[in-house]
Amino acid sequence: MRPNLTIDPQRLWDTLMDTARIGGTSKGGIRRLTLSEEDRQVRDWFRTQCEALGCTVATDEVGTMFARREGRDPQALPIAMGSHLDTQPTGGKFDGVLGVLAGLEVLRTLHDMDYRTQAPIELINWTNEEGSRFSPAMLASGVFAGAFTREEAYAIRDRDGISFAEALEASGCRGTEPVGERRFAGFFELHIEQGPILEKEGVTIGAVTGVQGMRWYDVTVIGQDAHTGATPMYLRKNALLGAARIIDAVDAIAHAHAPDAVGTVGYLENRPNSRNVIPGEVFFGVDLRHRDEAVLDVMQAALEAELARILPPLGLEWRCSTLWSSPAVAFDPRLIDCVREGAAAAGYATRDMVSGAGHDAAYIARVAPTTMIFVPCAGGISHNEAESASFDDCAAGAQVLLEAVLAYDRKLAG
Ligand SMILES: [Zn+2]
Repeated sequence: MRPNLTIDPQRLWDTLMDTARIGGTSKGGIRRLTLSEEDRQVRDWFRTQCEALGCTVATDEVGTMFARREGRDPQALPIAMGSHLDTQPTGGKFDGVLGVLAGLEVLRTLHDMDYRTQAPIELINWTNEEGSRFSPAMLASGVFAGAFTREEAYAIRDRDGISFAEALEASGCRGTEPVGERRFAGFFELHIEQGPILEKEGVTIGAVTGVQGMRWYDVTVIGQDAHTGATPMYLRKNALLGAARIIDAVDAIAHAHAPDAVGTVGYLENRPNSRNVIPGEVFFGVDLRHRDEAVLDVMQAALEAELARILPPLGLEWRCSTLWSSPAVAFDPRLIDCVREGAAAAGYATRDMVSGAGHDAAYIARVAPTTMIFVPCAGGISHNEAESASFDDCAAGAQVLLEAVLAYDRKLAG
């Protein structure tokens, strides 16, 4: 039997707005950098709220917090929910925060109705998701999933030279639990979409099937510096002209695999960058993304082929290397089904979608069945103080999170 449990939308909204004051900015956003005084304050608040619901709160050695509400079966693996409470330096009120506070609203609802799930329920606040103080992003979930070692994370320094280990110590946020020893029956992360699709299509809930693969390439095109007035056209080796044609080719490669592919040149250095010198060398970054690694392989091969086709007739040489890559992630079909069922039970339409951004869930998918739930954000704007999600959409996301967790709990019990 499906229990009839309903979250309190006003309580969720008030919690979002009240906690947004911790690190609140004059433009309506939040500045809550990892392990800052503001981060410590919101963590203390989070602990108090969870303990008031009878949860036990544990913290691991990289500061990640786990609030646990016991179920009927003490042997069962917990069903986890969560996201992050840290923000960008000029962050919004919803990125990450919604996933944690909606999880808190789920726990409050279960508590108010005195409803016991079969499995324990855990709510997680991952440390340093944003990566703006300590790079890379998703650091603690990455350590949890084995993408980085604890020592690698500890050694990372912020711009002031303070290491992650020192910041954990100084803020009092370092716990004692070894990282990555916890096991989950599943992990659900609710998040704003950070893109425009749901709003544009008028759909409330995104059932996220995975995270797209991302590949970054460094390309250097090498020609020859020469006088713009004295060098005839047929003798030029214009590196910027070659780069321009490659930029156009990158756009065409992405269009050839649309709508799921995207390709961008967003960074470029033109050398020597002088009005009367034909550019002798251009360095630029290519960003290719797709949900399917096989398609990314095809796109990469196309990039290499276009370099070889376009540059030699212009008298140009080149170097191309992979700077960074993040493999595509496929989320767990059983959990995705629970999101669809949960949305249907709550009366919302869903749309399958692939996340264009990285999330803690992308790492956790390596060690536990995982999925995400997206809700719309105004104009698709995020990592911005103007980031905005509506009262109704936040409530819808929290209700679907609750329904999905309960649906999964019934499946595990049955
Ligand atoms: Zn986030």
